[in-house]
Amino acid sequence: GTEELIRKLHRDQTLSEEEWIQVIDGRTPKAAEYLFRLARQVRHAYYGRDVYIRGLIEFTNFCRNDCFYCGIRRSNPHVRRYRLTEDEILDCCRQSYGLGMRTFVLQGGEDSFFTNQRLTGLIRQIKAAFPDCALTLSVGERSRASYQAFLDAGADRYLLRHETFNAGHYAKLHPAQMSAAHRQACLFDLKSIGFQTGAGFMVGSPFQETRHLAQDMLFLKHLHPHMVGIGPFIPHRDTPFAGEKAGTLELTLYMLGLLRLMLPDVLLPATTALGSICDNGRELGILAGANVVMPNLSPRCHRKDYSLYNNKLDTGAESAEGLSELARRMEQIGYRIAVHRGDWRPCPDQA
Ligand code: SAM
Repeated sequence: GTEELIRKLHRDQTLSEEEWIQVIDGRTPKAAEYLFRLARQVRHAYYGRDVYIRGLIEFTNFCRNDCFYCGIRRSNPHVRRYRLTEDEILDCCRQSYGLGMRTFVLQGGEDSFFTNQRLTGLIRQIKAAFPDCALTLSVGERSRASYQAFLDAGADRYLLRHETFNAGHYAKLHPAQMSAAHRQACLFDLKSIGFQTGAGFMVGSPFQETRHLAQDMLFLKHLHPHMVGIGPFIPHRDTPFAGEKAGTLELTLYMLGLLRLMLPDVLLPATTALGSICDNGRELGILAGANVVMPNLSPRCHRKDYSLYNNKLDTGAESAEGLSELARRMEQIGYRIAVHRGDWRPCPDQA
């Protein structure tokens, strides 16, 4: 049965496509509890009870892409477009440093204003001002040469969700100019040039079948990224998917648990989207095996304009109160926020 497969996954850290489908479709509340208990055991062995925090800076909502699910897609005319200046970005870093963040995540649409030259200049400034901090980029698909330039300028990590591995499914979520193959090639480039690399997918995106999720797991096993970001799909009113159903908390938590067993050492965030569909979604994510949270540090005045989906959680963690609220929530479930870069660590018995 399902618990048998969960045990097998725990033991072998892999399953076949058929078994992935069975373990996902055969889930029950009891099997999920069992999975989460094992996932927490694994997580505690690698990362203890520390929760790593990353300060998320949404620095531009201009985007040349037109992903059908995303609120900041190019053809949405209702978005108030903004991009932060270098000074505003450095201010965000400074504030969040004061609150204990030692990783900054620069995330944005694919904005051609941020040329390689502008971005490498920015990376150098941030790394010079905060030498004890890690810098993560999440600016979409670029050439291998640009990725190399970002790494050489001092960036440490890169987040690029593969969104869905299956090419047919990918094509239903994106316009024809985008492809699953190109996205995946970017991920292999990022990893091979030396980035701590993050991939990931949406749970419950339109047209998603269990076999697509199974293929996502097999792809991630093969890529073996340092980080995996997953969250429920949440519809946005100004997109072609406005009328589609959101992904569920229940399936997202279950996938988090499975990911922890498959990739024991992975950095696994309880994402904003998870916190957006349920008040204590991020706590539940931690209890399912996640070990990272990414509070939003973007300036208040632009917060509403980086709307990927409706009812996005606004943590207000740019303030000391916001962060202590998060710390309190983590302590309530027996975890604590760690004040360090929170790098990926190889498995203790491989180190
Ligand atoms: N442009 C960069 C990229 O493509 O990687 C980074 C920003 S992009 C907006 C960040 C992530 O938001 C995407 O990888 C996608 O999974 C997620 N996202 C976009 N629209 C969403 C929605 N409606 N529901 C849930 N997640 C969404």
